[in-house]
Amino acid sequence: MDRSKLYRRFRTLLIANRGEIACRVIRTARAMGLRTVAVYSEADRDAMHVALADEAVLLGPARARDSYLNVERLLEAARKTGAEAVHPGYGFLSENAEFAQACLEAGLVFVGPTAEMMTAMGSKSGSKALMEKAGVPLVPGYHGEAQDDATLANAANKIGFPILVKASAGGGGRGMRIVRSTDELAPAIVSAKREAKAAFGDDRMLIEKYVDNPRHIEVQIIGDSHGNLLSLFERECTLQRRHQKVIEEAPSPTLNAAQRETVCAAARKAAGAVNYVGAGTIEFVSDGKDVFFIEMNTRLQVEHPVTELITGIDLVEWQLRVAFGEALPLRQDEIKLNGHAVEARVYAENPTRNFMPSVGRISTWRLPAETGGLRIDAGYREGDTVSPYYDAMLAKMIAWAPTRDIAIDRLNRGLLDSDVRGIVTNIPFLSALITHPKVRANAIDTGFIERELADLTQSAPAPGELELCAAVAAIVDDERKAAQTDASSPWQTFGWMPVGRRQRSFAFRVGHGPEQKITLNYGSGPSTLAIGERELAFTVVPKEGGFDLTLDGVKSSVAAVIDGHELYLRTRNGRFDLHWVDPFGGESEEHVGEDKIAAPLPGTVVAVLAEEGAKLEKGAPILTLEVMKMEQTLRAPFAGVLKSIRCKVGDIVQEGVELAVVEPSGE
Ligand code: ADP
Ligand code: ADP
Ligand code: MG
Repeated sequence: MDRSKLYRRFRTLLIANRGEIACRVIRTARAMGLRTVAVYSEADRDAMHVALADEAVLLGPARARDSYLNVERLLEAARKTGAEAVHPGYGFLSENAEFAQACLEAGLVFVGPTAEMMTAMGSKSGSKALMEKAGVPLVPGYHGEAQDDATLANAANKIGFPILVKASAGGGGRGMRIVRSTDELAPAIVSAKREAKAAFGDDRMLIEKYVDNPRHIEVQIIGDSHGNLLSLFERECTLQRRHQKVIEEAPSPTLNAAQRETVCAAARKAAGAVNYVGAGTIEFVSDGKDVFFIEMNTRLQVEHPVTELITGIDLVEWQLRVAFGEALPLRQDEIKLNGHAVEARVYAENPTRNFMPSVGRISTWRLPAETGGLRIDAGYREGDTVSPYYDAMLAKMIAWAPTRDIAIDRLNRGLLDSDVRGIVTNIPFLSALITHPKVRANAIDTGFIERELADLTQSAPAPGELELCAAVAAIVDDERKAAQTDASSPWQTFGWMPVGRRQRSFAFRVGHGPEQKITLNYGSGPSTLAIGERELAFTVVPKEGGFDLTLDGVKSSVAAVIDGHELYLRTRNGRFDLHWVDPFGGESEEHVGEDKIAAPLPGTVVAVLAEEGAKLEKGAPILTLEVMKMEQTLRAPFAGVLKSIRCKVGDIVQEGVELAVVEPSGE
């Protein structure tokens, strides 16, 4: 194939993606003077990537297969807008060879490798066969064509447990199960196949030896259509949950210079085996000594910013220039590693509820400024809605510094300075994770998060004097602000300086904890706050996002968000979620019967795991829902009897719908 047909200059780029990566690509394309076209689904009409692009085309209904995965609609959007090229981002169609081919046939430049290269490297089985031939070290395993139960079982027994069953077409950690013994194998294959079929439309499996206490190390490579191929150093992504990366960094703190050169050379060899064009990543697992190839991702990766920050290269710019047909602008020996970068993936999910995705409207979105080595790649803004249809990643926060230790501190500071409300995020979890002593010391493996989960998701400290005073200050300040626009408010007349001495009592609680009382004394003379016997003088100076509170002569900065009776405070002691027990608010305790198993989010019932009448241990699996493409198993909240199952496999259920009832035993 004549490569000038594949790669040539263009001026209008369609971005076949959404969220932060669409915004990220638009930013560089715009800086290069290109016209940008966004595409969107009905759920994304008001999304950030739509607002950022020069033009935008509606693809169809929310479901990915009707919109972002609909090749016909995408090509039609390109035709309608005169787009000459397509950037696929990551996920969705980014590693779909038929899509790359369809773009070519429609006369569009596909920003990425050719369909042939993708076919060769896209399947984990195929690429492993290729790497075996090229002499790249592999994890021992089975990656053959035959898929019958006996072949897979034989292969597993031969390799020796523990093994990993993996979807050949897999991505994002889906369709993957660790199997520790023969009798676990069959059910693991069934469930991995089901997940793979749903996520990728392909349920072929491969089997690998499970490397114990592994680290994940990967190499960024990029090739042009003139036969040049470069490696841009490695990243380490060992902090994972369910085989999905959470924190990534570059360079790897585990490798020395010689090991770095070895792994980069292996990656160049791997990509060289298909004369690779475009940006790609060669992934390896390491047992601490050696590295073994596991897969290649033929696209830009989520964690590409850490590489950008240590090399000073804009990878999207290079992707686009390669797609223009240009030669890579630097030689291998001109690529220099400078400093250290760490990235954290900010998700709409609840770490204390098994990382259940959180959907809804983002009522507050305050992230720190991108200065002092901090970079934020976001796909959402205040007022945006996180829908249940797509990946729940909201943004990435990335910090660069001369050393790893300082990069971690910068990233942590950025996380601490972030306030996102309306949905639950993993921000406090990320902060706890990157500052964990073992992470600082790089004493980790891919199982670290799972093992330390209790420690990493510890509930916040109880609010102290400072927080109670801050809560009162936040309410009064909020009422005062409202009063400036509402002439009937009592604060309009009284403000902070009513005539005579007055008192106002407040009570707060955290979760189901005890009520804590505090009294505000105000009027003529200085205002004070009283907690029990203690009376404290204070001053409040409002500022953007909160106020400075001086208490007992010490000034400290407080970030505050008020949402009805829910108060969110950030003080020097951490984050606090307080409930304001309003004496006039008609407190009504919402009572959710714990014996009812309800759908936490909209989803599809994919398996019913217990029968009506069955005796259940606490934590026994009852049914599996597929929520946002991930399987979530709902379990018995206590020991009891399964009284009824109110759904069947295949049911599409809405959030809050009752799916099963468990009757507690021993009552
Ligand atoms: P990276 O290796 O770049 O970190 P991941 O494997 O975590 O990428 O996947 C990046 C994103 O794309 C995630 O949101 C993931 O859920 C999604 N994803 C990855 N592979 C696929 C695929 N084949 N189909 C659909 N989504 C995918
Ligand atoms: P995906 O396409 O979902 O990214 P990968 O094959 O890259 O799938 O595997 C995802 C993660 O699972 C890796 O980053 C690694 O931590 C872990 N993993 C993969 N293969 C092995 C293995 N053979 N042994 C131990 N861990 C593995
Ligand atoms: Mg991978």
